[in-house]
Amino acid sequence: MDHGGRCEMALIKGFHRRRRDTWGKKVAGKIVIVPVGRVDGRVLEDLQDSIGNIFEKEVCMGQPLDSPDYAYNGRRKQYFSSAVLLKLREVERGIGDRVLGVIDFDLYVPSLNFVFGEADLENRVAIISLCRLKPEFYGLSEDMGRFKERALKEGIHELGHTYGLGHCSNPLCVMHFSNSLLDTDIKKASLCPQCEKRFKQGRLSPG
Ligand code: ZN
Ligand code: ZN
Repeated sequence: MDHGGRCEMALIKGFHRRRRDTWGKKVAGKIVIVPVGRVDGRVLEDLQDSIGNIFEKEVCMGQPLDSPDYAYNGRRKQYFSSAVLLKLREVERGIGDRVLGVIDFDLYVPSLNFVFGEADLENRVAIISLCRLKPEFYGLSEDMGRFKERALKEGIHELGHTYGLGHCSNPLCVMHFSNSLLDTDIKKASLCPQCEKRFKQGRLSPG
């Protein structure tokens, strides 16, 4: 997650536990992209084409999930991110597979105004919201290239958490914590050498 500490706390707990318990076991695994409700197919295609290169994984499209009415908070006019993550846990998949949910609604967790995304390390599922990645959300004109780039960065970031990567101090690294979209725009859609090394070491675990 960006814009708040929630996933980071979960990450630190999950990361250390997993590294200790499962070090040395070899597991493959693919990335399953799951649209939640109506999602722009161009963004999904772009994610499918690009996200696997970063993690050297096969990427496939999962069965779309219905619009998550169960997660809607009428007072906030937003969707509760963790409730959607719970649903994503039910997506059928193989050992070591990751699920990346993509939703076009605005997400929140109770302690924050909104979240760009959230990751559940234990269950290896993550979600990103496209809502605030669009320039139109801020009254700017449409920019598909920028929108897709942001979605890719957020997707890599959240998946990175599910592979055991924490937040990185390098502002150009995709695992850098984004306080705002400016941070997202500054960072690259790739892992810095340190994170890449960490990812490759962690790959020996089911992580
Ligand atoms: Zn994060
Ligand atoms: Zn890094």
